Amino acid sequence: MEHSQTTVTGTAGDGVKRVFIHTFGCQMNAHEGERLLGLARDHGYQEALCAEEADLIVLHTCAVRDQAVQRILSEVGRLSSLKQARPAVKIGITGCVAQADGATLLQRARGLDFVVGTRAVGRLAATLRRVEAGERVVDVGEGAYLEPPAGPARGATICAYVTVVEGCDKFCTFCIVPYTRGREYSRPAATICNEVRQLAAAGCREVTLLGQTVNAYGRKGGERGEGEVSFAELLRQVAAIEPIYRVRFLTSHPSHLGDDLIEALATIPEVCPHLPLPLQSGSDRLLAAMRRGYTVAEYLDRVGALRAALPQVALVSDFIVGFPGETEADFAETLAVVAHLRLASLFAFKYSPRPHTKAAALGDPIPEAVKGERLERLLALQRTIAAAHNQALVGSRQEILVEEQGEGWAEGRTRSNRRLRLDRAAPLGARVEVRVSAVEHGHLLGTLETAA
Ligand code: SF4
Repeated sequence: MEHSQTTVTGTAGDGVKRVFIHTFGCQMNAHEGERLLGLARDHGYQEALCAEEADLIVLHTCAVRDQAVQRILSEVGRLSSLKQARPAVKIGITGCVAQADGATLLQRARGLDFVVGTRAVGRLAATLRRVEAGERVVDVGEGAYLEPPAGPARGATICAYVTVVEGCDKFCTFCIVPYTRGREYSRPAATICNEVRQLAAAGCREVTLLGQTVNAYGRKGGERGEGEVSFAELLRQVAAIEPIYRVRFLTSHPSHLGDDLIEALATIPEVCPHLPLPLQSGSDRLLAAMRRGYTVAEYLDRVGALRAALPQVALVSDFIVGFPGETEADFAETLAVVAHLRLASLFAFKYSPRPHTKAAALGDPIPEAVKGERLERLLALQRTIAAAHNQALVGSRQEILVEEQGEGWAEGRTRSNRRLRLDRAAPLGARVEVRVSAVEHGHLLGTLETAA
């Protein structure tokens, strides 16, 4: 939520309408913020560099963080001061907080002009017309999936995200996503492939397919319907688009890591050996309370099958510490499974209840100090594992796809998604073979091997 200090500067005075979109949260949100920008452009707005220059300010929100509503409302309050100098400025909230809290936001924030939920973004242009006419608008109803704007609005980036699954049907007891994003919906494979072709033509070389449960792709009501392709097949189709060099996906659900997906990961050269696969807890009792739909043994079975087929896979996982009822013994099971898994990286969060979720009824009984201490123990364990992984890479040869470059250096990620800095310049979008020479402060450094 950090912003630089607000100064009221006014607009450029050139008659051009400008929009500033501040996006919070995950990569799916970042991607959606980009699509909102495309819609605003279609509606005649140009992008502003900061809120102070904008005629339209959109806070594209995330409900996953603690106190999300309070934080957003205080941000609206802060931005509302811009209206003193420029009363025509419009402020709106989109995204997960908008979907979850709807009309109450408009009641609680006087400076707010509109609230558009995740399921109503397809009607953003109509909402903007009403807002520009002076109405205060709430739209959180059902709506068509928002297809991304075509062409240059997306810009040309080396790496791009493409949403393939919207929403989620899992209803894990701690998670607000099914309430803010709606039911699971898979975009048609042909639409996805067309988008990837456009991105490739604009210079993109790596695509990351996005979904809250991305590997559930292709199911409707739990089953795959006629004519719909599996996620493994979608990977094959996307990987065949030239010149896309790399395909990644996030986030996978362990229940949908079938043998066909493992085979796709192991055999399609463009699909990178990198898999985010949240486990959440090492305790079966807590996994059941979270309603995750698998046991630790089942998770380990899938990981075993994956590693047998693809030994070099970089596995990433998410954990929650301090879920209601988590005992020291439960947490010890989490530490044990993390030690066993030897993850490439790990994301861990302290539990806090989210409105609308089933677990919210359980309160938040684990003291903050205990949660904090457990989180630190978990992260410390992972730091030692990650350091060992990095050291093991010294001397190895890795391909990077150059995403940034400057005088005498270039940087990109390896196929297993580790950042690696090369000690010389290289063209953006090039694949470069690098010999890893050292690890400094957790970052890999390397020297040129041969250009691919
Ligand atoms: S599968 Fe993921 S997105 Fe869906 S409810 Fe569970 S945690 Fe939330």
